[in-house]
Amino acid sequence: MQSKNNIKILVVDDETRICHFVQKGLQLINPSYHVFQAASGLAALDIVRNEMPDILIADICMPDMDGISLIEKSLKIKKDLQSIVITGDANLDNAISALHKGVSHYIKKPLDIDRLNNAVQSSWEHRMFLKELHSSEACFRSIFSNSSVSAIIYDPNGKILKCNKMLEKLLGYSNEALCQTQIADHIHTEDIILYKELEQKLLNNLLDHFRKDVRLHDISNNILWVHASVSIMDDIFDLGHPLINMQLIDITQRKHAENETKQLNVQLQRQIDQMDRINRQMENAVDFANKVAIDAEIANKFKSKFLANMSHDIRTPMNGVIGMTHLLMGTELTDEQREYLNMIRISGNSLLSLINDILDFSRIEADQLLLENQRFNLRMTVEDTVDIVALDAYEKGIDLTCIIEPNVPSELMGDPGRLRQVLINLLGNAVKFTDQGEVTLHIQLEKETNELATIYVSVKDSGIGIHESEIKNLFKPFTQVHKKNTAKYGGTGLGLAISRRIIQLMGGNIKVKSQIDQGSKFFFSATFDKYRPRKKQEFSDTLDLSEKTILIADSQPAYRSMLSNLLDNIGCKHLEVSDGHSALSMIKDSVSTNQPIDLVLIDMHLSKIDGIKLGKMIKSDPTISHIPMIMITFVGQRGDISMLQDIGFAAYLSKPVKQSLLQKSLQKIFSAKRVEAKGSEPNNIITKFSISEEETPKSHILLVEDSEMNKRLASVYLNKMGYQVETASDGKEAISKLAKKRFDLVLMDIQMPVMNGIEATKIIRSGQDQNIDHKVPIIAITANAMSQDRKICLNAGMNDYLSKPFKPEDLQSKIEKYLGNINVKTKQKRKTDRSSIPSKYYDKKAILDRIDGDTDLFRQLIKLFIQEVPNQIRQIKLAIKEKDPERITLFAHTIKGSAYNIRAMELKQVAFDIEQAGKLSDIHLAASKIEALENTFDKLNTELRQVVSDE
Ligand code: ADP
Repeated sequence: MQSKNNIKILVVDDETRICHFVQKGLQLINPSYHVFQAASGLAALDIVRNEMPDILIADICMPDMDGISLIEKSLKIKKDLQSIVITGDANLDNAISALHKGVSHYIKKPLDIDRLNNAVQSSWEHRMFLKELHSSEACFRSIFSNSSVSAIIYDPNGKILKCNKMLEKLLGYSNEALCQTQIADHIHTEDIILYKELEQKLLNNLLDHFRKDVRLHDISNNILWVHASVSIMDDIFDLGHPLINMQLIDITQRKHAENETKQLNVQLQRQIDQMDRINRQMENAVDFANKVAIDAEIANKFKSKFLANMSHDIRTPMNGVIGMTHLLMGTELTDEQREYLNMIRISGNSLLSLINDILDFSRIEADQLLLENQRFNLRMTVEDTVDIVALDAYEKGIDLTCIIEPNVPSELMGDPGRLRQVLINLLGNAVKFTDQGEVTLHIQLEKETNELATIYVSVKDSGIGIHESEIKNLFKPFTQVHKKNTAKYGGTGLGLAISRRIIQLMGGNIKVKSQIDQGSKFFFSATFDKYRPRKKQEFSDTLDLSEKTILIADSQPAYRSMLSNLLDNIGCKHLEVSDGHSALSMIKDSVSTNQPIDLVLIDMHLSKIDGIKLGKMIKSDPTISHIPMIMITFVGQRGDISMLQDIGFAAYLSKPVKQSLLQKSLQKIFSAKRVEAKGSEPNNIITKFSISEEETPKSHILLVEDSEMNKRLASVYLNKMGYQVETASDGKEAISKLAKKRFDLVLMDIQMPVMNGIEATKIIRSGQDQNIDHKVPIIAITANAMSQDRKICLNAGMNDYLSKPFKPEDLQSKIEKYLGNINVKTKQKRKTDRSSIPSKYYDKKAILDRIDGDTDLFRQLIKLFIQEVPNQIRQIKLAIKEKDPERITLFAHTIKGSAYNIRAMELKQVAFDIEQAGKLSDIHLAASKIEALENTFDKLNTELRQVVSDE
């Protein structure tokens, strides 16, 4: 920057001496001044142009150009030139006009050099001040016009005085155009009032400044949002009033964004409101659902209660009907009475099984079908079950086979009663819907862990089969797919629905494969907890049978394989033959080769040489007569025991043979042989009955029951089963009896006067009275069959639960669970008659053998036969008349079966011929046989009536 000392000074005077004087004088004061001299105005202008002096000192009066004109011309060359005029004439007007024309100082002659120097310094400072002013103004101007914020300066009347480029850009007008408008011209009418109010406060000094968002119109009348910052500013334009400075930031986008957000917010709020509404509706729905659920629960409770009551109310009188019928059967009756009673018994039993089915189904519906979890022996359960259907199978001439694979564990935890129910249903159906061929129950091990065993069960028959389209409905309740034959087969159509649910509860599912006329296979898997790690030889705890070799002589491969399985399980070695000749030669060979056979299992109906003949042959050959023999017959087709014993059979067992019985028989036979060897008498022939009788010691049972009828009924049952019974009429009496005497088991009614069964059980279990065996097994007996009743009993400390009405078998199996095995039939005394009156039309002996010599039953069978067959013959005749081959077949089949039951073989043959004619739809053929049928029956009838009236 130029320093104060380097000032360039031009001195102009037509008197050169004055020029020198000024130059010298100034340089004396400040040697760094550059002082130029000029003697005329023109010369001075040249120096101004070339040297650009800072200060011009000029004499006013000069000949060619006066000092004022020179200053005016010089200022055109150099705008910031400072000028001082010197004059000898102190005319005031001149001085004033000089100062007006931009002269900074006016000095009179004679010159005082100090005063002149002061004027030079002051001019210099003034020049520097102006220079600074100019530069700051330029700076301000630049900031103002180039600012990124739009700026307007307007006067209190609103007239725009100045605005910057940014505002031009914002509103689209030129600067000049804007400066011809009012600020109000650009503000949106809706915002103007408020803006003016604030502006007024500003002008009245009530506010320093204000900020406001206002809307402006641009040149195209678009609305722009700006954020205005407004303040009062100095009167820079010297207008005599303050100015207003307005700075604007374009916030249109922000406002749009805000608006969008606002709209979004509105939408959001709407959605929130909608959600609220939906929530409220949902809350209402949930309230409603809860209410419905509560109602449903109440309804369910009512349903359960109703079921419990129904179960109680129906079972109690049924108990009386069935029980009393049972007792009445054992009294002296006329034939007619016995016949009627038998009808009552049959109807009662089928009504009870119907009620049980319906109750089970209701339990399923109410989700109350619960399984027990108790230790049971799978083999025994299955074998017992097979026994139940074996008679029906035999009567229909169907081979019933039961194969339990050796690796299937026996000791399991689960509900044997329910498993039995399913098996009876499946086996019962299989037998029911099979007219010839076989039914096979096959049990295999599907999966096994240390704790669990999954058992695969299949029941296969060669019966009428089920059409593919019917299979999907099969497990629905009340479904019977052979509708035409419903009368023939009976049933409720509930069995499979119940079985499926039971198996589902056991973790499996029943499925079926079937083909019309080929047969059906029902199968399922069920998972059980294992009771303990399986041992291979579960029953062989006394005598080691592993060294024994047993020969199986049976013509049927299925039975041979079943017996092999059993022997594998027991742990014996075994050989197989299919006929009598082979059996004989193998036994003889074994002796000669010194690889002895220790025992022979002989089927009664062995081919070539039958079982009896084979037995006799073995016993008549001294080289092999020592080998023990077991005779195996079909169930219900027992041979003459004494005859078998006379021949020398050591035991006889019925098919399907149970593993437990076979094992016990082998044990007895081989241990008896050891005793025999020591010289004692040979034992009697071993039967299922002899084994169970020997095994069961007499047990003492306390029966606690208030109803006299029930007390009597149960006592009779229990006595017949071989137990010693004492009774008590209420809980209190029971406790006092238990304190005096040891009982092996207590049968306890629940609802009783004085003290109920639950209370009594709690007292017994508490151990308060040390004379009472507080661990005595207690079985509850009640007519309430719902699961909660069972829970109450078990919670009170009872061991088990039996619901009324129960069949003697149910009671027995419950008791056996705690006291061991005993067979009811061994205790029943029957009038037996084995003396046979030979007849060519039927075989009385065969019938009596089948029914264990029970003459009462024999008479009933014959009576039923005499009664039913004429009606069936009538039905066949009617069917012939109506040309209905299906009914011809059906009734001829029934007669055939009945005839076979009493071994009336001639009648059976004629009925068979008619059945075949029916199957071939040959009505003529059937009609041609009717006479023979009637004649044969008449002959038979005469003889049978004779027999019945003789009895
Ligand atoms: P029901 O008491 O009528 O036998 P189920 O539920 O046990 O009731 O059986 C339903 C129906 O399924 C039977 O009526 C029969 O039509 C059919 N069915 C069941 N098992 C067999 C089978 N082994 N062979 C042919 N049909 C069968």
